[in-house]
Amino acid sequence: MRITDDGILDSARQIASPNCDARPAGSAVELIVIHNISLPPGEFGGPGIVELFTNRLDPGAHPYYREIANHKVSSHFLIRRDGEVIQFVPCEKRAWHAGESSWRGRSRCNDFSLGIELEGADDVPFEEIQYAKLAALVRALKEKYPIADVTGHSDIAPGRKTDPGPNFEWGHLSGVKP
Ligand SMILES: [Zn+2]
Repeated sequence: MRITDDGILDSARQIASPNCDARPAGSAVELIVIHNISLPPGEFGGPGIVELFTNRLDPGAHPYYREIANHKVSSHFLIRRDGEVIQFVPCEKRAWHAGESSWRGRSRCNDFSLGIELEGADDVPFEEIQYAKLAALVRALKEKYPIADVTGHSDIAPGRKTDPGPNFEWGHLSGVKP
């Protein structure tokens, strides 16, 4: 895996999300935030995540979708259960994944972070291939950006977010985490 100068992961499938904008001037990419997501919750393999991140989620397709269909959210990357890596937002841009958040006393983590979603749920173990792809992706991102930490969404938004959840095994990143 390699990140181009435009912030594109060369090996990823590219699906552009409109839910992004420019990072504030002078903000370096210093943080990686790990999330989990599944749509509908607890179901894997469907089109819901891509539809949510591209504002095409049908509010009538599932009761939960009515609550979230108008949310404007995205992440830079999604790693599916089978290991496929999809990129929605170039790393140079700000994706909308962290929401109200704080890391080492700095708020608005979206300004200086990259979001990586693992297709999953808090109460389900992740797949080995997801950890392998995540470790390779973190390694490639560290080559390109001054990454100071890899953290979980629940660590920067405690009390509000629980992902990536208790099943996420940080040990898989022990060789690559700063
Ligand atoms: Zn999250």
